[in-house]
Amino acid sequence: MSFRLLGLCDALLNTLAEKSYTTPSPIQIEAIPAVLDGRDVMAMAQTGTGKTAAFALPVAQLLSGGTNPLAKNVRGLIIVPTRELASQVAKSVENYCCNMAIRCGAVFGGVRIEPQISMLKDGLDILVATPGRLIDLYHQQAINFEQLEILVLDEADRMLELGFIDDIRSIQNLLPNQRQTLMFSATFSKSIKALAKSMLNNPLVIEVTTANSTVDSVKQLIHPVDKARKSEALIYLIKKNKWHQLLVFCRTKRGADDLVSQLKNAGISADSIHANRTQHARTLALDGFSNGNIQVLVATDIASRGIDVNQLPCVINFDLPYVAEDYVHRIGRTGRADNTGLALSLFSEDESKQLQTIERVIGCKLPREIISGFTPNKKASVKTSDGELYGNFEPDPKLKSKRKGEFLGRGKRLAKSSSSKRNR
Ligand code: AMP
Repeated sequence: MSFRLLGLCDALLNTLAEKSYTTPSPIQIEAIPAVLDGRDVMAMAQTGTGKTAAFALPVAQLLSGGTNPLAKNVRGLIIVPTRELASQVAKSVENYCCNMAIRCGAVFGGVRIEPQISMLKDGLDILVATPGRLIDLYHQQAINFEQLEILVLDEADRMLELGFIDDIRSIQNLLPNQRQTLMFSATFSKSIKALAKSMLNNPLVIEVTTANSTVDSVKQLIHPVDKARKSEALIYLIKKNKWHQLLVFCRTKRGADDLVSQLKNAGISADSIHANRTQHARTLALDGFSNGNIQVLVATDIASRGIDVNQLPCVINFDLPYVAEDYVHRIGRTGRADNTGLALSLFSEDESKQLQTIERVIGCKLPREIISGFTPNKKASVKTSDGELYGNFEPDPKLKSKRKGEFLGRGKRLAKSSSSKRNR
């Protein structure tokens, strides 16, 4: 399959050739022709599947043919949950539109509003925005939606998780009813389906991945380790594997800052992004990480959205997330596009519940491997790579193992008969 067959114009085909994109990804194959046809689309796509191009390319093509935007007007609006994602998506849109007369920009909180107001003065073809700042701009009469033709809601599930539902509803009321709407979400929960029902008109529903499945190209491993030795284990792994670019996830802002200090003390260049840091500090950290000046970026879940560094070889969960879907989002930072990735999780005994939930959500049991020299004192659920068993882990009875007869805990194997009963 080639991009030309999807109906893209020469300007975009040239850009894709310059970027060495030869083959469209599955979400692009499904979404691009539908959007070009003017259809509403509801697509389930994880980060790393090429979903940004799946909406940005056809939206740019549709808008390239129309009239110029009037003052303060936007013709295409892309709403995203976080500042980092806004800036990342805007960069991608700009790159894709580099051979077209399309004006685009981004607005998000945490930075001065005045430059954004002046950017909007002459109108824009495509605006990427976070919900709160968009509403602020509307109240300051800096933006007008009369000419709006296309609305994209990116990472809609994340938007709901972060409590933006009221903002989204308010924005919906400001937009013309006559418009094309595209919604992208990593999961199709009930609330996402309800939102889609109220915002989309007879949409084409695209599902290119299984619900909450993790990207196949990512190798996942659980490293059981004592909680008190996690930083030491992380430093050991970084030095042993000589990772030049590593993304580490922490649950808390304080934990992220503490970890950065410990990494720096061990001679490893590191920085953090989380909600308590200024937008400027976050941008500096992300830029330093992208251009290779910072070896380890420590992020909390919210701030991590929008990190798109090509060929990120490995991500490490320093803590397991409380929300299992965050695990899927986190590991989606590696193995992006056609590259394979590695996702390691440092797992301490107190995180057994989270691990069980993650395994239930992704639908399979993750392999355990002890890091040499870091055998946990408090033995959690452990199976070493050579098959040795430790601990007295009792598996979650609701966990559906992918393969019958697979190891599910000390001395327990899922018998074929009980499995079929359970799955009935
Ligand atoms: P996304 O899922 O939109 O965050 O995209 C993930 C990464 O894949 C980004 O770095 C894109 O530049 C890249 N990408 C998107 N589509 C393609 C494609 N068809 N071929 C190669 N890389 C792509």
